[in-house]
Amino acid sequence: MLKRGGTIGILGGGQLGRMMAMSAAQLGYRCIAYAPEGDNVVSGVCEDLFVNKWDDKAALAAFAARCDVVTWEFENVPVATTRAMPEGRIFPHPRALETAQDRLNEKRFVEDLGGRPAAYMRVDSRADLEAAADRLGAPGILKTRRDGYDGKGQWRIGSDRDAQGLRLPDVPLIYEGFVEFEAEFSVILVRGRDGEIRFWDSARNTHEDGILTASTLPSGDLIEAQVGEARELARQVADALEYVGVLTLEFFATREGPIFNEMAPRVHNSGHWTIEGATTSQFENHIRAVAGLPLGETATLARTVTMTNIIGAGIKASQDHLKTPDTHLHDYGKARVREGRKMGHVTQLER
Ligand code: AMP
Repeated sequence: MLKRGGTIGILGGGQLGRMMAMSAAQLGYRCIAYAPEGDNVVSGVCEDLFVNKWDDKAALAAFAARCDVVTWEFENVPVATTRAMPEGRIFPHPRALETAQDRLNEKRFVEDLGGRPAAYMRVDSRADLEAAADRLGAPGILKTRRDGYDGKGQWRIGSDRDAQGLRLPDVPLIYEGFVEFEAEFSVILVRGRDGEIRFWDSARNTHEDGILTASTLPSGDLIEAQVGEARELARQVADALEYVGVLTLEFFATREGPIFNEMAPRVHNSGHWTIEGATTSQFENHIRAVAGLPLGETATLARTVTMTNIIGAGIKASQDHLKTPDTHLHDYGKARVREGRKMGHVTQLER
């Protein structure tokens, strides 16, 4: 168990790390973070920020020497960086990143555990893309296998003609058949060092242009009926990876049941509502898990919860939300406002 006053290292410098560090401070821990150059908003709540490239061996060693345990807040941290941290002191284990960073590996891994992803085919050339669009049909979605987030690295292929006209990026790709879903939801769990697992309620997620815009509870009958099967898969994934910390699996709710979309080996935007809406937030439970502390309860505390992301210039009027009762503003403190950038979120509760 990590003693009070111990130091937690966070790989990544974004808002997820910032909210993790706020929970760690509450529990009496210190945080330092490591991230390449950028708008690293974790810095406001960390004792120190190492601004270095992911492959700077000397800087990584200096960072590791100051940490009692290490975790990450960003799923595109190179696996080699996590492997440079001391074995047994990084949670989750780097194998979780290795599995989740490549969409093809991730789908095969989940299929082996009995999960059902959208129909997919590997694409390494134009001929592969045409074959995939032919076999799986259009519309479909072409995605980069690595480094995608918030809808980036994705192209909707509406017809065979789109497939012929697209300039293919020179990276490994995957083509997915379009899932005619009724709704989207995520399963968020925390797994402790002793293997105990707790789940939060699954919110209904709404996306626009591939970016999460809102998560709401209750999620409705259709999702509620599918959560049990989805949780079973998430539990198997967590156990198979001997996972420690918060893990997220995203699903499409369809008439044929839950279809696995993707997993994130980290705290997740669709779990931000847990800060005010659950007995213990995803951030606090992630810190508890990586520190080897007992996990907290995950019960929902309100009749309804609405978490809305503040994207781009919307942040300018964000303080207006404070006039609404039981409404909680989180401004990530990002200096650069960009279209499509997650700047903050607001959670509104009805108790
Ligand atoms: P992803 O980054 O893969 O989670 O994709 C972002 C969003 O795009 C998802 O949450 C869906 O709204 C949509 N999407 C992704 N893949 C598919 C698919 N195969 N079928 C239908 N919609 C999809």
